[in-house]
Amino acid sequence: MLTYHTAIIGAGASGLFCAGSFATPKIIIDHNKIPGVKVGISGGGKCNFSNISVTAADYQSQSKHFCKNALAAFKPQDFITLLERAGIAYEQRAHGQLFAKNAQDIVQFLVYRAKTQNTDFALKTEVLDIQKKDEEFIVRTSAGTIQARHVVLACGGLSYPALGASSFGIKIARQFELNVIEQRPALCGLSVPKELRPICKMLVGNSTLAQVSTGKHTFTEQLLFTHEGFSGPAVLPVSLFWSEGEKVRINFLPDIEALSWFYKQKNTSKKMSTLLPFTGKIGAVLLGQLDKPLSNATKTDLEQASRHLNAFEFIPAGTAGYTKAEVTAGGIDTREINPSTFEVKKVSGLFVTGELLDVTGRLGGYNLHWAWSSAYCTAQKLIKKI
Ligand SMILES: Cc1cc2nc3c(=O)[nH]c(=O)nc-3n(C[C@H](O)[C@H](O)[C@H](O)COP(=O)(O)OP(=O)(O)OC[C@H]3O[C@@H](n4cnc5c(N)ncnc54)[C@H](O)[C@@H]3O)c2cc1C
Repeated sequence: MLTYHTAIIGAGASGLFCAGSFATPKIIIDHNKIPGVKVGISGGGKCNFSNISVTAADYQSQSKHFCKNALAAFKPQDFITLLERAGIAYEQRAHGQLFAKNAQDIVQFLVYRAKTQNTDFALKTEVLDIQKKDEEFIVRTSAGTIQARHVVLACGGLSYPALGASSFGIKIARQFELNVIEQRPALCGLSVPKELRPICKMLVGNSTLAQVSTGKHTFTEQLLFTHEGFSGPAVLPVSLFWSEGEKVRINFLPDIEALSWFYKQKNTSKKMSTLLPFTGKIGAVLLGQLDKPLSNATKTDLEQASRHLNAFEFIPAGTAGYTKAEVTAGGIDTREINPSTFEVKKVSGLFVTGELLDVTGRLGGYNLHWAWSSAYCTAQKLIKKI
């Protein structure tokens, strides 16, 4: 049986970063053929690896303060410094988002760093089971059994099963009797009820600036019409805060108060939609039968049309699901985890990093930053456990 100081389950963002952050001999195991698959396609192939400003308020979790230690221990500038030393090009975009020129540069950097820090790679290897016997973990894989003093669960959430996501981490959490916060797809589109589908279908592929809200959370960005409903940067963050049965409100004209806009032009015989600053047929489709020549429109018509444009409300039928969700919200309850070391409080030697934890960042590089910060803290503890 192979014996290691540490076995890291998952060669994704947090597993690779953890492996490269301490030099003790270790193995990293992944059922994918290549490491860092999700990182490689993240940020549309450019990897939004962090954000210039990262605070606990950028994360959603049952324990609001849990992430503070890790975010203070490993900051965006720390990752930037590593990239600069490695000569990897990056750029800052709107809202402080930090992108690589090419996501593959980040993958190569993570893999190289791990290899130079005494890491053996076991790829195309599924981890089937983990048991703890006295002070050792017995890790059963599709390629044999490994014994390790420490195990890092870096096996991510349920999003994008095609890229290797699995429920393995949650299975192990339950086996060790850790509390799990219910998981759900997040940072994804929202599907509309049947009666609104025709509108979305007619506008598939079109996008417009919109203000989208749920509860106290509002985002003003581009909204994209899809076959199932709405997506795009204005909708993805809303999905993080939306819970089933809650209303979502859309202001399709965030810069215009539609009623006064119509009144200013009341004498024209042009249809309402032709006077609105939408591109293509968006205005006409959104207004549908409400779209009348302004001079014929009654006060009620104008009020109805304005409400439709400035305060469109609906209850989503659901989210676009794990196949399209950038992240999984929920996960292992952080109250089970030491916030400085990421060790499971009641299972010494077992660590959890990244998306598997109930810590979910908003859109803009926060989830990868969480992967780095949580992995860094884990590695700092493992360095000391020799
Ligand atoms: C399309 C897409 C784009 C994204 N873009 C961004 C972005 O630009 N910026 C950002 O901040 N976040 C982005 N994210 C989110 C970010 O990629 C994740 O939050 C991050 O990768 C989580 O890191 P992790 O280490 O927890 O898990 P992962 O990176 O998902 O790694 C988990 C690994 O565990 C492996 N695994 C699972 N089960 C087993 C098993 N039983 N045996 C062996 N191996 C197993 C998986 O194959 C996988 O490689 C994106 C996500 C997606 C899906």
